[in-house]
Amino acid sequence: MCDSEDVQTLQRGMNFNLNSDYSVILMSQRRNAPYTDCIHEDEITIEYEGHDVPMFDPTIDPKSIDQSLYTKSGSLTQNGKFVKAIDEYKSDLRVAELVRVYEKIIPGIWSERGFFKLIDYIKKDSNGRMVFRFILKESEVEELENNSSTRRMRPRSRIIPTVVKKEVWERDGGQCVMCGRTDELHFDHDLPFSKGGTSITAENVRILCARHNLEKSDKIQ
Ligand SMILES: [Zn+2]
Repeated sequence: MCDSEDVQTLQRGMNFNLNSDYSVILMSQRRNAPYTDCIHEDEITIEYEGHDVPMFDPTIDPKSIDQSLYTKSGSLTQNGKFVKAIDEYKSDLRVAELVRVYEKIIPGIWSERGFFKLIDYIKKDSNGRMVFRFILKESEVEELENNSSTRRMRPRSRIIPTVVKKEVWERDGGQCVMCGRTDELHFDHDLPFSKGGTSITAENVRILCARHNLEKSDKIQ
């Protein structure tokens, strides 16, 4: 949904600088996910695990060897590109890389989590091998508008927690509650926070298609 990147066709979870404006990562907090990604309780910090070396020998499990900054040919891996961007950011050589995050909520369904800034990483021992953990903080932008030749950042609204999205998705049957469309869907927080909406629960979130989402915001503004 809202798959402006066409998430389904991305070949990998880490996509550094996918276009000139931002990177894209796919994350999953599901129990059987290949990597352990998590969102902290503050809901604005993501810890994202770096990626393993590709399988190069069927007798060697990539999960048994250190994650790497370089490929065999010596170029930077995705981990390496993310680390380089963070090192440069911390040395004031560049601004933090903007990362658009998508999260798998149920198989085949990716939900946009929003834009985050790539600010730090740690190297961590995990069952005797080294893995990277990238730290991302929620960015103040929600969306890059792409209607004209110039892209524009839009201030972010509140994040709907994944557990709520999942519940709403199942309750609303994965379709617009107004017209039953199953594409271009958005999770809509019924009562905007600015108008007194309280905490986000499944009761005040619903699925709307792009058209009904727009009509609704026209009415409210
Ligand atoms: Zn609709």
